[in-house]
Amino acid sequence: MGKVTGATLMARSLKQQGVKFMFGIVGFPVQPIAAAAQEEGISYIGMRNEQSASYAAQAVGYLTGRPGACLTVSGPGVVHGLAGLANAQQNFWPMIMIGGASPTYQNGMGAFQEERQVQIASPFCKFAHAVEHVERIPFYVELAVRQSIYGRPGPVYLDMPDDIIRGEVEEGDVAPVADIPEPPRMQAMPESVEAALDVLEQAKRPLVIVGKGMAWSRAEDELRAFIDRTRLPFLASPLGKGVLDDNHPLSVGAARSHALKEADVIFLMGARLNWIMHYGRPPRFNKDVRIIQLDLAAEAIGNNMPTEVALLGDGKAVVGQLNKALQSRQWFYPAGTDWHKGIAEKAAENAKSIQPMIDDDSNPTNYYRALKDIREWVPEDAVIIGEGANTMDIGRTQLPNAAPRLRLDAGSYGTMGIGMGFAIAAAVVHPERPIVSVSGDSAIGFSGMEIETACRLRLPIKIVVLSNGGIGSGLAELPKDKPLPPRALTIGSGYEKMMEAFGGKGFYVEDPKKIRGALDEAMAYKGPALVNIRLHPNAGRKPQQFGWLTT
Ligand code: ADP
Ligand code: MG
Repeated sequence: MGKVTGATLMARSLKQQGVKFMFGIVGFPVQPIAAAAQEEGISYIGMRNEQSASYAAQAVGYLTGRPGACLTVSGPGVVHGLAGLANAQQNFWPMIMIGGASPTYQNGMGAFQEERQVQIASPFCKFAHAVEHVERIPFYVELAVRQSIYGRPGPVYLDMPDDIIRGEVEEGDVAPVADIPEPPRMQAMPESVEAALDVLEQAKRPLVIVGKGMAWSRAEDELRAFIDRTRLPFLASPLGKGVLDDNHPLSVGAARSHALKEADVIFLMGARLNWIMHYGRPPRFNKDVRIIQLDLAAEAIGNNMPTEVALLGDGKAVVGQLNKALQSRQWFYPAGTDWHKGIAEKAAENAKSIQPMIDDDSNPTNYYRALKDIREWVPEDAVIIGEGANTMDIGRTQLPNAAPRLRLDAGSYGTMGIGMGFAIAAAVVHPERPIVSVSGDSAIGFSGMEIETACRLRLPIKIVVLSNGGIGSGLAELPKDKPLPPRALTIGSGYEKMMEAFGGKGFYVEDPKKIRGALDEAMAYKGPALVNIRLHPNAGRKPQQFGWLTT
């Protein structure tokens, strides 16, 4: 055995713990880690900003069950990466950030890019630590990766000072560590399983809410069996979409507000009653609603609303328990109730209210008309990424997901700028699937330079920009004689030309009749492509019963 450097030990340890992808930007002092990662067989993806690199690392974590790595230079590089740590923390997605740091022997001297990195990463991480001895790298990587995927998943941070990266130790002096097994699955108390079914049996207007905890736990088979057996209506959260097919006859997605407001029993599965779910409170929810809650985190139980029955455990394991317990019961929720009728009526009413916009062929087009063509065009096995205010909200309702973990969007933290990082992550994890990212013109601006990354790596991502010339609502023209409104963006921007500039294929469309042709050409093209669709400045959502963020 010979000597081994800190950089190589880091790469080997990540590889040992199942980390397959590293996104980053090289520079002092982390260049040797990127080089070692490639030598050890980790895929290294060079990004244009650490922010996108950190978004990509967490998307890999969510999609694969093992964290992606984000490699940043010291100081400003770490600060840029914090955005991703915060987003991963809010969404419970695993990632490992490795921040280069100035040499320990220069601490406090005003070293190049010296920063208190462990302190600033800590509030956004489950675990954050500096590596102080080269031979302890495998220990820290095992600890960090395990923390990122066990319990509620989340981000972790390791600080790698220059002297640790370049430092060498005798290989024989490095204590081996164990491979981290898949996270163990916890089961709920059997009496709680029975109590949950008792409450469901009493429900007149039951509703199951499926959140991304179920996607993370890969509970789709058990959940499909549970819904088929109980015939309970269900609602997917934005990222819970696809755990059950959005087109399942028991999905109430098209009557969301009505279903939430009228349900008398809600079975919350791997979802939080946070702002997205209006805190579970009136006027959005029935004030007497009874709540059954399945979650793997005890501290999540009863948050914002009291929980009547808590099923504390892993989603896949607990729904498996429910299915087993159902074998000794006759009960299922009957068809043709007033609850079903009310939901169907509301869904039909909602569909009717948007139909004129879907059918509207005027030029320039509106969100619903553009999304109609996008829906018909997106292949069923595609990963769909959505970001932007209206683009994401309307896109969520108009673009169904048939299978789990095929939708990525701004998520629980409402982060704009995730789109390119998520799309690049999806493309490297799923080279066999089409990747479609639908962005607003504001949203694409946050990380648009990553288009170069997609082109450089020839990742065949298809980006659609719905461009209304504004942040939120659009503008018909920019005023010449007074200051621009804060929400103004350049009208008719040539985002497709950015794609062309780096070697991809770009399309610009205004006339809705030409959208489909452009989309088809983009899909047929072998590399990355961008279809820039100009929207009418007044295009917007259908009128909503409740204002955004109503409690
Ligand atoms: P959504 O945005 O889809 O509603 P949230 O992120 O708000 O989802 O909530 C997800 C919930 O799922 C969290 O409370 C988390 O603790 C829980 N969770 C995560 N993993 C699992 C799992 N394997 N089994 C059960 N619950 C889980
Ligand atoms: Mg816009």
